[in-house]
Amino acid sequence: MTLALNGGTPVRDSLLPYGRQTVTDADVAAVTEVLTSDWLTTGPAVPAFEEAFASFVHTKHAVAVNSGTAALHAAYAAVGITKGDEVIVPAMTFAATANAVAYLGGTPVFVDIDPETLQIDPASVEKMMTKKTKAFVSVDYAGQPCDYVTLKAIAKKHGIPLVSDACHALGATMGKDHVGSLADLSTFSFHPVKPLATGEGGMITTDNPEWAERMRHFRNHGITTDHRQRQEKGSWFYEMQELGFNYRLSDIHCALGLSQLKSLAAATKRRQEIAAIYDKAFAGIAGLTPLAKRHGTTHAYHLYVIQLNLDQLKADRNAIFQALRAENIGVNVHYIPVHFHPWYRKTFGTKEGMCPIAEKAFTRILSLPIFGAMTDKDAKDVVTAFDKVLSHYAR
Ligand SMILES: *Cc1c(COP(=O)(O)O)cnc(C)c1O
Repeated sequence: MTLALNGGTPVRDSLLPYGRQTVTDADVAAVTEVLTSDWLTTGPAVPAFEEAFASFVHTKHAVAVNSGTAALHAAYAAVGITKGDEVIVPAMTFAATANAVAYLGGTPVFVDIDPETLQIDPASVEKMMTKKTKAFVSVDYAGQPCDYVTLKAIAKKHGIPLVSDACHALGATMGKDHVGSLADLSTFSFHPVKPLATGEGGMITTDNPEWAERMRHFRNHGITTDHRQRQEKGSWFYEMQELGFNYRLSDIHCALGLSQLKSLAAATKRRQEIAAIYDKAFAGIAGLTPLAKRHGTTHAYHLYVIQLNLDQLKADRNAIFQALRAENIGVNVHYIPVHFHPWYRKTFGTKEGMCPIAEKAFTRILSLPIFGAMTDKDAKDVVTAFDKVLSHYAR
């Protein structure tokens, strides 16, 4: 079969994206209700969403903010990251995981990953610890929980907090424990491709009441009360105790989030079904290896990532990406190792060779379409396109 790239007929007529939101009639109704209520922001939908979220992940506190990036910024600020501090970050993540350290004047220290799960390598964390290390971050890459037993032991041994960037993994579990309750603080994003969508939005979960309170002030300019709390007290007085930001999540977003939370379990199950179709099909396809699955965990499948076996192929990842896109399969690449970005090179002097496993993985990875509204037919089209493209380029 001629590749679409070479003028053949594409596997699909239109592009299948790698991710997209599902918005139900109930979600629309929930948002509409807020729009005609008294509060568009700082209203009752905010604590309602926070409480439902905390109860879903089984933590004492959940603090809503207006992006996953703001969630990371607030979490690092809560544990006191400041100028000169080092925070250990895995190289294979979205830039925001490290950027939020830099917002506070800290230095992100990049560590390498496990070659099969592409998650932070605990042994590398121990190696990179210095007196300046004030926290470390794990990323539940693709949507499965990291090795929190080992990571928590490291945090305890060194007396520093473990932050989980759980932006991929809402809905996943390790044993009986939910992602969100596995680290000292966990951060989430509600960008439309993530497990729960509010447009923009984020959340931090923790059992620590002081950190939760600090983050509530941090998201509100460093001011200790919000508009509704003052209205309830019949007071105009407020004071700014710290320098904060406007990172509030509006009632419109929170109403959507609260409604989406109700369909999260079904959406996660659907992602797992799509992943099972891929797992089965790819067991018999040469030229690629899906990521390894960690024992005793369930996977939220924000991403379904495969690594190309380049030694069995006549083309590199970029050529295969182009060929699959021509077939209208919306493959993607997550991520360029953060220490490769020009800003990191020029600001922190990072360079190639610092995290060789992440760097090698970067040349091999592709993220496949996976989202709650995908049909079995969509998944089969992806498999057909991979079959077509990889057999064309087989050595
Ligand atoms: C999406 C994402 C973020 C940032 O979230 P935003 O809501 O887009 O700010 C941070 N870290 C990881 C791992 C992500 O996937």
